[in-house]
Amino acid sequence: MMEIRILWLYHDLMDLYGDKGNIMVLKTRAEKRGIHCFVDTCTINEEKDIASYDLLFLGGGADHEQNLIYEDLLARKEAIQEALAKKTAALLICGGYQLFGKYYLDQDGNRVEGLGIYDYYTESSDRDHRCIGNIAIEATIDGETFKAVGFENHGGQTKNVATPLGKVLKGHGNTYGDGTEGFVDDCVIATYMHGPLLPKNPRIADCILTRALNKKGQLQGNKLEPLDDSLEQQAQQIMLKRLGVA
Ligand code: GLN
Repeated sequence: MMEIRILWLYHDLMDLYGDKGNIMVLKTRAEKRGIHCFVDTCTINEEKDIASYDLLFLGGGADHEQNLIYEDLLARKEAIQEALAKKTAALLICGGYQLFGKYYLDQDGNRVEGLGIYDYYTESSDRDHRCIGNIAIEATIDGETFKAVGFENHGGQTKNVATPLGKVLKGHGNTYGDGTEGFVDDCVIATYMHGPLLPKNPRIADCILTRALNKKGQLQGNKLEPLDDSLEQQAQQIMLKRLGVA
Protein backbone atom coordinates (compact mmCIF):
# COMPACT_ATOMS: atom_id res chain seq x y z
CA MET A 1 0.00 0.00 0.00
CA MET A 2 1.29 3.47 -0.85
CA GLU A 3 1.85 5.77 2.10
CA ILE A 4 2.45 9.50 2.57
CA ARG A 5 4.00 10.78 5.79
CA ILE A 6 3.23 14.46 6.43
CA LEU A 7 4.95 16.63 9.01
CA TRP A 8 2.81 19.63 9.98
CA LEU A 9 5.18 22.24 11.43
CA TYR A 10 3.98 24.51 14.25
CA HIS A 11 0.38 23.30 13.82
CA ASP A 12 -0.54 25.01 17.11
CA LEU A 13 0.86 28.45 16.19
CA MET A 14 0.96 28.88 12.42
CA ASP A 15 -2.63 28.48 11.22
CA LEU A 16 -4.54 31.39 9.68
CA TYR A 17 -7.75 31.55 7.61
CA GLY A 18 -8.29 27.82 7.61
CA ASP A 19 -4.75 26.72 6.69
CA LYS A 20 -5.36 23.45 8.55
CA GLY A 21 -7.91 22.62 5.83
CA ASN A 22 -4.94 21.92 3.55
CA ILE A 23 -4.00 18.94 5.69
CA MET A 24 -7.61 17.70 5.60
CA VAL A 25 -7.68 17.93 1.79
CA LEU A 26 -4.34 16.13 1.35
CA LYS A 27 -5.44 13.34 3.68
CA THR A 28 -8.88 12.98 2.07
CA ARG A 29 -7.55 12.97 -1.49
CA ALA A 30 -4.89 10.41 -0.57
CA GLU A 31 -7.33 8.12 1.23
CA LYS A 32 -9.92 8.26 -1.58
CA ARG A 33 -7.20 6.64 -3.71
CA GLY A 34 -6.37 4.01 -1.13
CA ILE A 35 -3.13 5.76 -0.12
CA HIS A 36 -2.44 5.67 3.60
CA CYS A 37 -1.78 9.16 4.96
CA PHE A 38 -0.03 9.63 8.28
CA VAL A 39 -0.06 13.18 9.70
CA ASP A 40 2.40 14.06 12.43
CA THR A 41 2.84 17.46 14.09
CA CYS A 42 5.91 19.30 15.34
CA THR A 43 5.95 22.32 17.58
CA ILE A 44 8.62 24.27 19.46
CA ASN A 45 11.26 22.07 21.15
CA GLU A 46 9.86 18.83 19.77
CA GLU A 47 12.34 16.42 18.25
CA LYS A 48 11.45 15.03 14.84
CA ASP A 49 13.46 13.43 12.07
CA ILE A 50 12.37 15.95 9.45
CA ALA A 51 14.04 14.26 6.48
CA SER A 52 12.12 11.04 7.11
CA TYR A 53 8.78 12.59 6.05
CA ASP A 54 7.49 12.86 2.47
CA LEU A 55 5.83 16.25 2.88
CA LEU A 56 6.32 19.27 5.13
CA PHE A 57 3.52 21.75 5.72
CA LEU A 58 3.89 25.17 7.35
CA GLY A 59 0.92 27.53 7.51
CA GLY A 60 0.69 31.28 7.86
CA GLY A 61 0.94 33.34 10.99
CA ALA A 62 0.60 36.84 12.31
CA ASP A 63 3.81 38.70 13.21
CA HIS A 64 3.38 37.59 16.84
CA GLU A 65 3.44 33.88 15.97
CA GLN A 66 6.29 34.31 13.49
CA ASN A 67 8.31 35.85 16.31
CA LEU A 68 7.46 32.93 18.59
CA ILE A 69 8.62 30.22 16.21
CA TYR A 70 11.51 31.60 14.17
CA GLU A 71 14.35 30.66 16.55
CA ASP A 72 13.12 27.09 16.79
CA LEU A 73 12.76 27.00 13.00
CA LEU A 74 16.30 28.34 12.47
CA ALA A 75 17.66 25.60 14.74
CA ARG A 76 16.19 23.10 12.27
CA LYS A 77 17.82 24.65 9.19
CA GLU A 78 20.23 21.78 8.52
CA ALA A 79 17.50 19.19 8.97
CA ILE A 80 15.20 21.07 6.58
CA GLN A 81 17.97 21.43 3.99
CA GLU A 82 18.67 17.72 4.29
CA ALA A 83 14.95 17.00 3.78
CA LEU A 84 14.80 19.19 0.65
CA ALA A 85 18.00 17.63 -0.71
CA LYS A 86 16.24 14.25 -0.35
CA LYS A 87 13.32 15.64 -2.42
CA THR A 88 10.86 16.01 0.44
CA ALA A 89 7.89 18.04 -0.83
CA ALA A 90 6.86 21.18 1.06
CA LEU A 91 3.81 23.44 1.11
CA LEU A 92 4.35 26.84 2.73
CA ILE A 93 1.65 29.44 3.26
CA CYS A 94 2.19 33.18 3.75
CA GLY A 95 4.09 33.66 7.06
CA GLY A 96 5.60 30.18 6.54
CA TYR A 97 6.59 31.12 2.98
CA GLN A 98 8.28 34.28 4.26
CA LEU A 99 10.39 32.38 6.82
CA PHE A 100 12.08 30.17 4.19
CA GLY A 101 13.57 33.34 2.68
CA LYS A 102 16.27 35.61 4.11
CA TYR A 103 14.22 37.69 6.52
CA TYR A 104 10.86 39.30 7.29
CA LEU A 105 10.82 42.95 8.32
CA ASP A 106 7.50 43.63 10.01
CA GLN A 107 5.48 46.84 10.07
CA ASP A 108 7.22 48.05 13.24
CA GLY A 109 10.66 47.60 11.67
CA ASN A 110 11.32 44.44 13.70
CA ARG A 111 13.47 41.97 11.73
CA VAL A 112 12.63 38.27 11.94
CA GLU A 113 15.44 36.11 10.53
CA GLY A 114 14.43 33.51 7.99
CA LEU A 115 16.05 30.20 7.13
CA GLY A 116 17.75 31.81 4.13
CA ILE A 117 17.27 28.65 2.10
CA TYR A 118 16.04 30.89 -0.71
CA ASP A 119 17.21 34.36 -1.78
CA TYR A 120 13.88 36.11 -1.51
CA TYR A 121 13.21 38.49 1.38
CA THR A 122 10.14 40.25 2.75
CA GLU A 123 9.71 43.84 3.87
CA SER A 124 6.46 45.32 5.12
CA SER A 125 4.61 48.22 3.71
CA ASP A 126 3.02 50.71 6.10
CA ARG A 127 -0.07 49.73 8.09
CA ASP A 128 -2.49 51.33 5.62
CA HIS A 129 -1.32 49.20 2.72
CA ARG A 130 -1.82 45.57 3.59
CA CYS A 131 -2.59 43.20 0.73
CA ILE A 132 -6.04 41.96 1.70
CA GLY A 133 -8.73 40.20 -0.30
CA ASN A 134 -9.55 37.42 -2.70
CA ILE A 135 -6.86 36.58 -5.23
CA ALA A 136 -6.73 34.65 -8.49
CA ILE A 137 -3.55 33.54 -10.23
CA GLU A 138 -2.37 31.51 -13.17
CA ALA A 139 -0.02 28.98 -11.60
CA THR A 140 2.59 26.79 -13.28
CA ILE A 141 3.73 23.70 -11.37
CA ASP A 142 5.76 20.85 -12.84
CA GLY A 143 4.98 21.98 -16.39
CA GLU A 144 1.21 22.30 -15.89
CA THR A 145 -0.46 25.73 -16.06
CA PHE A 146 -3.87 26.37 -14.50
CA LYS A 147 -5.87 28.95 -12.56
CA ALA A 148 -5.97 28.99 -8.76
CA VAL A 149 -7.87 31.09 -6.22
CA GLY A 150 -7.38 32.04 -2.58
CA PHE A 151 -7.53 34.75 0.04
CA GLU A 152 -4.56 36.91 1.05
CA ASN A 153 -3.88 39.14 4.04
CA HIS A 154 -0.27 40.24 4.49
CA GLY A 155 1.75 43.36 5.04
CA GLY A 156 4.94 41.71 3.83
CA GLN A 157 6.11 42.39 0.27
CA THR A 158 8.25 39.51 -0.94
CA LYS A 159 10.97 40.48 -3.40
CA ASN A 160 13.77 38.80 -5.35
CA VAL A 161 11.68 35.68 -6.01
CA ALA A 162 13.67 33.68 -8.58
CA THR A 163 10.85 31.36 -9.68
CA PRO A 164 7.34 32.61 -8.82
CA LEU A 165 4.46 30.15 -8.55
CA GLY A 166 2.31 32.18 -10.90
CA LYS A 167 1.04 35.40 -12.44
CA VAL A 168 -1.55 37.46 -10.58
CA LEU A 169 -4.86 37.74 -12.43
CA LYS A 170 -6.58 39.65 -9.63
CA GLY A 171 -5.26 40.67 -6.20
CA HIS A 172 -1.69 41.37 -5.10
CA GLY A 173 0.52 38.32 -4.50
CA ASN A 174 4.22 38.81 -3.73
CA THR A 175 4.09 42.63 -3.89
CA TYR A 176 1.71 45.37 -4.94
CA GLY A 177 3.21 46.01 -8.31
CA ASP A 178 5.16 43.11 -9.81
CA GLY A 179 2.24 40.83 -10.72
CA THR A 180 3.86 37.64 -9.44
CA GLU A 181 2.62 35.30 -6.73
CA GLY A 182 4.38 32.76 -4.55
CA PHE A 183 7.45 30.65 -5.20
CA VAL A 184 7.94 27.20 -6.68
CA ASP A 185 10.86 24.84 -7.25
CA ASP A 186 11.24 21.07 -7.43
CA CYS A 187 10.33 20.60 -3.76
CA VAL A 188 8.62 23.71 -2.44
CA ILE A 189 5.27 25.26 -3.33
CA ALA A 190 4.94 28.54 -1.43
CA THR A 191 2.08 31.00 -1.67
CA TYR A 192 0.26 33.89 -0.03
CA MET A 193 -3.03 32.09 -0.66
CA HIS A 194 -4.99 31.10 2.42
CA GLY A 195 -8.64 30.27 2.27
CA PRO A 196 -7.55 27.46 2.77
CA LEU A 197 -5.64 26.95 -0.49
CA LEU A 198 -6.36 23.35 -1.43
CA PRO A 199 -10.16 22.75 -1.27
CA LYS A 200 -10.78 25.08 -4.22
CA ASN A 201 -7.52 24.15 -5.96
CA PRO A 202 -7.50 20.35 -6.27
CA ARG A 203 -4.86 20.43 -9.01
CA ILE A 204 -2.38 21.98 -6.60
CA ALA A 205 -3.31 19.34 -4.02
CA ASP A 206 -2.58 16.60 -6.55
CA CYS A 207 0.74 18.19 -7.59
CA ILE A 208 1.77 18.08 -3.92
CA LEU A 209 0.61 14.48 -3.41
CA THR A 210 2.44 13.45 -6.59
CA ARG A 211 5.66 15.06 -5.38
CA ALA A 212 5.31 13.45 -1.94
CA LEU A 213 4.77 9.99 -3.46
CA ASN A 214 7.64 10.46 -5.89
CA LYS A 215 10.10 11.08 -3.06
CA LYS A 216 10.35 7.33 -2.49
CA GLY A 217 9.40 6.41 -6.08
CA GLN A 218 6.00 5.10 -5.05
CA LEU A 219 4.11 6.23 -8.17
CA GLN A 220 6.64 4.50 -10.44
CA GLY A 221 6.03 7.02 -13.22
CA ASN A 222 2.24 6.65 -13.05
CA LYS A 223 -0.22 9.50 -12.56
CA LEU A 224 -2.59 9.76 -9.61
CA GLU A 225 -5.98 8.23 -10.25
CA PRO A 226 -8.41 11.10 -11.12
CA LEU A 227 -11.14 12.03 -8.63
CA ASP A 228 -14.52 13.63 -9.22
CA ASP A 229 -13.69 17.30 -8.63
CA SER A 230 -16.90 18.80 -10.00
CA LEU A 231 -17.86 20.50 -6.72
CA GLU A 232 -14.35 21.86 -6.21
CA GLN A 233 -14.30 23.16 -9.78
CA GLN A 234 -17.67 24.86 -9.28
CA ALA A 235 -16.41 26.56 -6.12
CA GLN A 236 -13.34 27.78 -7.98
CA GLN A 237 -15.41 29.00 -10.95
CA ILE A 238 -17.67 31.05 -8.67
CA MET A 239 -14.64 32.89 -7.27
CA LEU A 240 -13.04 33.35 -10.72
CA LYS A 241 -16.33 34.82 -11.99
CA ARG A 242 -16.68 37.06 -8.96
CA LEU A 243 -13.18 38.39 -9.60
CA GLY A 244 -13.91 38.85 -13.31
CA VAL A 245 -11.20 36.44 -14.50
CA ALA A 246 -13.18 33.26 -15.32
N1 GLN B 1 2.68 38.38 9.34
C1 GLN B 1 2.91 38.28 7.95
C2 GLN B 1 2.50 39.51 7.16
O1 GLN B 1 1.65 40.26 7.56
C3 GLN B 1 2.23 37.02 7.40
C4 GLN B 1 0.74 37.04 7.54
C5 GLN B 1 0.07 35.78 7.10
O2 GLN B 1 0.58 34.68 7.25
N2 GLN B 1 -1.16 35.94 6.60
O3 GLN B 1 3.04 39.75 6.09
